[in-house]
Amino acid sequence: MPLALQLMAHGAPGRFEVRDVPAPVLAPDDVVVEVVACGLNHLDLWAEEAGLPVPVSLPRTLGGEAAGRIAALGAGVRGWKVGDAVAVQSNLFCGQCEYCQRGEESFCLQPVLLGVQRDGGFAEQVCVPERALARLPAGVSFETSASLTLAGSTAMHMLTKRASVRSGDWVLVMGAASGVGSAAIQIALQLGGRVIATASSPAKQWLGRELGAEHVLDSNQAGWPAEVRRLTGKRGADVVVEHIGGETLVKCFECLARGGTVVTCGATAGRDVQLSLWPLFVKQQRLVGSYSRDATDLRQTLDWAAAGKLRAVIHAIYPLARGAEAFADLRARRVLGKALIGVRAEAVPQSAPR
Ligand SMILES: [Zn+2]
Repeated sequence: MPLALQLMAHGAPGRFEVRDVPAPVLAPDDVVVEVVACGLNHLDLWAEEAGLPVPVSLPRTLGGEAAGRIAALGAGVRGWKVGDAVAVQSNLFCGQCEYCQRGEESFCLQPVLLGVQRDGGFAEQVCVPERALARLPAGVSFETSASLTLAGSTAMHMLTKRASVRSGDWVLVMGAASGVGSAAIQIALQLGGRVIATASSPAKQWLGRELGAEHVLDSNQAGWPAEVRRLTGKRGADVVVEHIGGETLVKCFECLARGGTVVTCGATAGRDVQLSLWPLFVKQQRLVGSYSRDATDLRQTLDWAAAGKLRAVIHAIYPLARGAEAFADLRARRVLGKALIGVRAEAVPQSAPR
């Protein structure tokens, strides 16, 4: 029987156990992927503490950012073979609805969240429909895939589909050291943007500059919106990549240019905000939601990684048995870039975290 890190009781922290689970039963269009590594995301923390609008039944194997090799194929699967190296898309789209039909899987009417509504990738095996797979390009490691498949493709979707960056645009990226932020800085630069980022500690600010941000502001300083206006010659940012929510999202509008766009994909600091609409319409600004990714966004993310245009920022790879530590470190905001859970020994480096 395969091993899985399972959430047994909700909480912050929740209670996890590494335990044997039954081998997956394949539907005709399913594949079993032998997981090598799987990225941890804030979504997993929400699932851990029962903070999602959808119920998470227990026990549950969390983890939506899995990469590995195909180990078994359902009877109807075509186009894949055992041993293929794959990334797994976490929004398991239906493939049938009007949105899926036109390749806008992020809008799917019957989505299933991997690792939330179906057992995910913090396990030796994960079972998913074949349509959720993307082939790993040559040169893209399982660890890189497990860092970018969810967070990186979220940023790709935000900056290429939900908002657009023109050459020379000022792009403000909130949370330089987060999974989404670290990818968004790199994507914005590739699109010709000039990047200002925010970060909450000297180490995270260093990472933002290292990734190419022209300026990195201390998000603990209340005056960061004024600093964005100063750095942009009072103009403000053309695009803001936001995923924090609460008061932070409201403050983004204090430094948003006329015609500018705030694109948001998360709300870790609060889902309810109060916005003044007068400046929003006078300045013809946009607040745009962004959710998950289309299959094309995932392929583009992996292609950019293969081309060296997007690199993974890996904080640490935790063995499955120490997965709960990864959750604790992400919750305590000690993670720079991505925390991964290395399921196979090949993914766990000699120097495990701390
Ligand atoms: Zn669909």
